[in-house]
Amino acid sequence: MKSYRKELTFTTPRRVEIVPITDQVNEALRESGIQEGLCLVNAMHITSSVFINDNEKGLWQDYINWLERLAPHEPIGQYLHNRTGEANGDAHLKRQIMGREVIIAVTGGKLDFGPWEQIFYGEFDGQRPKKVLIKIIGE
Ligand code: ZN
Repeated sequence: MKSYRKELTFTTPRRVEIVPITDQVNEALRESGIQEGLCLVNAMHITSSVFINDNEKGLWQDYINWLERLAPHEPIGQYLHNRTGEANGDAHLKRQIMGREVIIAVTGGKLDFGPWEQIFYGEFDGQRPKKVLIKIIGE
């Protein structure tokens, strides 16, 4: 069995942002040379997410608006977590609902997606370098 590991780093200009990353994951899959197996992609931080959904910019903004209604950034004093001196209580909650990772089947050297599925990085406390891990196993 082969195993391949790669880290991606994102520094988003905005605090909250959704970034399409399917191209980078496809590139990692090509580099791995793996034809049949599984591909894990996970956020390496507790205030960001990796998720699969539609590559449609209106939907990305719908997510951001919906998450902001669920867990507004301000007032920051509403979160007990921010008593630690941090201001990202909302970002931890947003990450939880959008998830940590995705696993995609690898078939015939390609990501075996359903219709319209694409991979996204969800940043909820950005403007600093943050990592995503890609791990591919198979043969
Ligand atoms: Zn925090």
